[in-house]
Amino acid sequence: MSIKELWTAAHRVPLPESETDGTLAWSATTVVTVVVTADGEQGLGWTYGPAAVAGVVDEVLAPAVRGLDPHDIGRAHLRMRQASRNAPTPGLTSYGISAVDVALWDLKARLLGIPLSALFGQCRDTVAVYGSGGFTSMTDDQLCDQLAGWVSHDGMTAVKIKIGEARGGHVTRDLHRVAVARDAVGADVTLMIDANGAYDTKQALAVAADAARLGVTWFEEPVSSDRLADLALLRSTATTEITAGEYGTTTEYFRRMCGAGAVDCLQVDATRCGGYTGLFAAAAVADAFGLQVSTHCGPHLHAPACAALPNLRHAEWFADHVRADAVLFDGLAHVHRGAVQPQRHRPGHGMHLRQGLGPD
Ligand SMILES: [Mg+2]
Repeated sequence: MSIKELWTAAHRVPLPESETDGTLAWSATTVVTVVVTADGEQGLGWTYGPAAVAGVVDEVLAPAVRGLDPHDIGRAHLRMRQASRNAPTPGLTSYGISAVDVALWDLKARLLGIPLSALFGQCRDTVAVYGSGGFTSMTDDQLCDQLAGWVSHDGMTAVKIKIGEARGGHVTRDLHRVAVARDAVGADVTLMIDANGAYDTKQALAVAADAARLGVTWFEEPVSSDRLADLALLRSTATTEITAGEYGTTTEYFRRMCGAGAVDCLQVDATRCGGYTGLFAAAAVADAFGLQVSTHCGPHLHAPACAALPNLRHAEWFADHVRADAVLFDGLAHVHRGAVQPQRHRPGHGMHLRQGLGPD
C-alpha cells in the first residue's frame, strides 16, 4: 500500500464585511486543502493561509511523500522536513507540511477504520472551547450580540475579544470595549483579550492593569510574540496570564518561548506548526515546562487531537474559521454546553470537502 496522490486546492471564503484586529485588516478567509489518497481511501487536511501554500505542497512536499506507506506518518513528516531544506520551514512551507500531516493522520485512521481521536488515544470525551472574535472593527452592539450568542446559546464560559486597535493608537476605546464585553457576558464568564502584538511594553503594562480591574484573566500577545524578554517582564508584573505561540512552526520556537518564561499558557496551531505531529510535539515541550496548551483557531481540525492532549487548557472557537469551515466541509462538530465532542462513529476526523470542492 502506498500514498498515491496529493490533491491541493485554495478556497477563498469572503466575509460579509472586512474585519480588523490590533495589527491587521482582512476581508476573506483563504483555506488551502490537501486530499491524500491511498488504497482507494482519502484523507483530508487543511491550513489557513495564502493560496501559495498549495504550490509549496505541489512542488516541494508531494514528491517527498508520494509512494510511501501511508501508515508511516513519521517517515513522511521527516521526508517533508528534509525536502524543504532550501524552502525553510518557518513560513508557508510549514503551513503546507501541516496540511499534509493532518491529511495523512486522517487517512491512516480511515484505512484502519477507526476515529482519529481513538487513533491518538483520547484522555477526555469533550473539548472545552472559548468563543473568539470581538474584532476591533465591530460596533458595540455587534460585539455584544456575538458574545451573548456564545454564552447564552452555546453555553461557553469563556470568550475573547481583540484589542490594540490601530497598533495601540486607541487605548481608551480598547478599554471601553473590554468594559462593554464584561457587561455583555456578566461577572461569571472568563474574559480574555488579544492585542496581536499591538502595544509597546509600557502601554501593555498599563492596559494589563486596567484590564485586570475589569476581570480580564488572559492577555494574549500584549507585545510582539518575538519579544520574549518583554513578555517575560509582563508575565512577572501583570496579574493576568500572558499568552502567545500562535506563530510557532517548530519545536525549537516553542522551547525558546517556554524557556524564556514568556507565557503562562502556550498557544499552538496545528495548521502552522506541522500538523498533529507538530502539535503533540509542542504540547510535550509545554508540559516539560509545567505549562498547559491552548489550540489557536481551526477548531474543527484541532478537536480530535485536543481530546488526546493531557495538558490541554481549551480550544479556540474562532468565528472566521467556524464560518469558513461550514462553507467548505461536511461533518462538522457543534458546540454544546461550551464544548465539542470529537465524532466517534466515523473513521478519521469525520469531515469531508463539500460536493464539488474535492477531487471527485
Ligand atoms: Mg491571537
